[in-house]
Amino acid sequence: MNLILLGPPGAGKGTQAARLESLYGLKQLSTGDMLRAAVASGSALGQEVKGIMERGELVSDAIIVRMIADRITAPDCKDGFILDGFPRTVGQAEALDRMLAEKGLKLDHVIELKVDDSALVARISGRFSCAKCGAGYHDTNRRPRKDGVCDACGGTEFVRRKDDNAETVATRLKAYHAQTAPLLPYYQGRGALKSVDGMAAIDDVAQALDKIIGKGGK
Ligand code: AMP
Repeated sequence: MNLILLGPPGAGKGTQAARLESLYGLKQLSTGDMLRAAVASGSALGQEVKGIMERGELVSDAIIVRMIADRITAPDCKDGFILDGFPRTVGQAEALDRMLAEKGLKLDHVIELKVDDSALVARISGRFSCAKCGAGYHDTNRRPRKDGVCDACGGTEFVRRKDDNAETVATRLKAYHAQTAPLLPYYQGRGALKSVDGMAAIDDVAQALDKIIGKGGK
């Protein structure tokens, strides 16, 4: 099963994709994570995109499409993938359509997580993750069970994303509305779009997703 999770930064795409990955064996493909890994490695790609990401702007379609093209047919995607943070422009969506057609793949669901802008800044500025395994947390909505210790791996170091600050978040939201929101009518026109209330609690959103994708859920 192949899915797209759409929604603004902070809507919960990463949180829900990680759950779907661990429960159902669908591979989470986050273009943001791939780009952060490139920046951390200091590669030529990383150097090219670092400033763009720090400003909260979008990386060019050409770079992103090249990056994702090889991933969707990698062996770890054989049972399906969840696109998280891609596509983010109509150009990327069109490139994805071409890519899927060439590879004989299809999208099963495009799911929008709907969240009010006013909630996003608080969500984004409170989030942090385990430096060791990447598990995501939030200052108020999702603290580790034991303060300072990762639930998933026991790690004790946590990191915050450089672009999760109020100023960059404003640019990222602007980019979402100008460049990514047009994907909603794009997929709606194909009868593929479903919406979930992303303002609900994490478990309720998870249940709503399970219902759409036809999994029993937990
Ligand atoms: P994310 O982790 O999805 O919030 O992405 C973090 C940053 O990576 C974004 O603000 C963009 O600079 C860049 N980025 C991630 N995915 C894309 C994409 N599909 N198209 C363009 N830029 C992207």
